[in-house]
Amino acid sequence: MQRIRVHDKTFVPFLTADQIKERVAEMAMQISHDYRDKKPLLLAVLNGSFMFAADLFRLLTIDAEISFIKIASYQGMRSSGKVVTAIGMEHDLNGRAVILVEDIVDTGKTLHHFIPTLQQQHPASIAVATFLHKPEATLYPLSLQYVGFQIPNRFVVGYGLDYDGLGRNYYQVYQLAPDSLNES
Ligand code: 5GP
Repeated sequence: MQRIRVHDKTFVPFLTADQIKERVAEMAMQISHDYRDKKPLLLAVLNGSFMFAADLFRLLTIDAEISFIKIASYQGMRSSGKVVTAIGMEHDLNGRAVILVEDIVDTGKTLHHFIPTLQQQHPASIAVATFLHKPEATLYPLSLQYVGFQIPNRFVVGYGLDYDGLGRNYYQVYQLAPDSLNES
């Protein structure tokens, strides 16, 4: 793998396609084991998770459903906090074993605010399967049941993750080059 340019920045190889394939297969095996007879509903959070979600889903060996949602947040009119809703949610979550599928958990803010919205629909359970997690950046309390890779707090692209729209199409994951931090 070689260094790549995305927009104005340089990225260096970080995770190979083989590492990703192997880890996603392990996660699928674990989920298939944990959710046998539960017919889980995977809720894949767009856009970043589409590639991970597709690979994970096709490796499940149990009955499972998948749906793709977008998370939108806006400032509520009266409440002090943000309102976080899902666009494209077609399923009734009542009594379902829900697995949220994310590309990356960074600060954890998105899921921390979104999970209570899901809980209002009384699912049987909610778990999180995230391809990447940056533990050093995570500021919000979250329990993450399935984590592909824990990574340092540096910007990454590839395997569905973008930098300003580009870079999603690589099978590998690339990390911002140390000497690219000062580029503009
Ligand atoms: P959080 O709410 O956990 O801070 O942010 C999660 C979202 O931030 C991810 O779904 C992703 O869109 C974006 N994000 C955080 N870190 C990275 C990164 O290193 N690379 C890319 N491409 N997106 C990131």
